[in-house]
Amino acid sequence: MPRPIRATIHPQAIVHNIQRARTATHTAGSRIWAVIKANAYGHGIERVYAGLKNADGLAMLDFDEARLVRRLGWDKPILMLEGCFDSTDYASALELGLTVVVHRQAQIDALALTLAQNQSACIDVYLKMNTGMNRVGFNPQDYGAAFAQLRALQGVGEIGLMTHFANADLPNGADKALALFNTTVAPIMAQYPDTVRCVSNSAASLTLPNAHFDWVRPGIMIYGGSPFADTHAAECDLKPAMTLSSEIIAVRDIQAGDAVGYGSRFVAPCAMRIGVVACGYADGYPRHASDQTPIAVDGVRTHVVGRVSMDMLTVDLTGVPNARVGSKVELWGAHIPIDEVAQAANTIGYELMCALASRVAVTVDDVQE
Ligand SMILES: *Cc1c(COP(=O)(O)O)cnc(C)c1O
Repeated sequence: MPRPIRATIHPQAIVHNIQRARTATHTAGSRIWAVIKANAYGHGIERVYAGLKNADGLAMLDFDEARLVRRLGWDKPILMLEGCFDSTDYASALELGLTVVVHRQAQIDALALTLAQNQSACIDVYLKMNTGMNRVGFNPQDYGAAFAQLRALQGVGEIGLMTHFANADLPNGADKALALFNTTVAPIMAQYPDTVRCVSNSAASLTLPNAHFDWVRPGIMIYGGSPFADTHAAECDLKPAMTLSSEIIAVRDIQAGDAVGYGSRFVAPCAMRIGVVACGYADGYPRHASDQTPIAVDGVRTHVVGRVSMDMLTVDLTGVPNARVGSKVELWGAHIPIDEVAQAANTIGYELMCALASRVAVTVDDVQE
């Protein structure tokens, strides 16, 4: 028998969450780039694909991922969030009909060269502005000139205006960046009023109507994770697209003063029953999960006790007297929000999703039409 741990992917939840993004942005009527970088935040592009159909475009980083979704039949727009890494990527972009981000001068130069060699080619681009994240993007003072260079290139189609917020998950956290973006693009919008703008991640899609514009770029919310530290996904009306489940593989009674696991982090305050779960950090469960980390056994919420090992972790069965070997365990999913597990392990749901280990067997729920 294989180890009982498995991940279950729910494409139907993705359908719901994309609809949620649409409702949240309906006043602006924004179109939706579903962000599927990092193999759809660890869910697997092919596994979630059936749920992505209602998005208007897919946004990603890897050209192999773009090739994959074209092969799966995606004929709507694709946005490459970091653009081309070298000039061969422009050939792929033309071949696959991709929209590419341009965030530095060398990318414009390489694009100009590619277009000079392909007189009939046409490519849409998104011009990225740095509004305070200070990773990639043209600084505001250089943005207008970069736009003018692109506009002058034969073969450049639509030029979208974009930025990415550093603090959209905090109250008023994006105000300064949005104001800077608006001021900087104003002359462009005056001259080309139909130019599309795209600035919102999940947090901004859910909370900043002024930032919705023509397109939004939700990622984490598509998978049913919360972009906020203090608001649960369910409160945002989001459904988890991944369940991580396993089983109890051993039960033992311990006495007051007995310790559990490596480093004896947990010491029993009284006689209690402990369950051992077939799940460890080599499956992607966070090793830094504290003794407060929630976990469900036979549908009953309890918590981790002791350090997480490579292949096992231990739980308090005090409140689950009927639990035994074979009892079902939910590590995260509909009953145990991944964000709560993440918080108890000092990280974020994004990291846990992306860290799901390849040794974990994955099944996919059917999509109901
Ligand atoms: C990852 C990413 C997003 C999505 O962010 P979420 O917080 O997951 O919604 C949007 N835009 C860019 C440029 C990104 O890299």
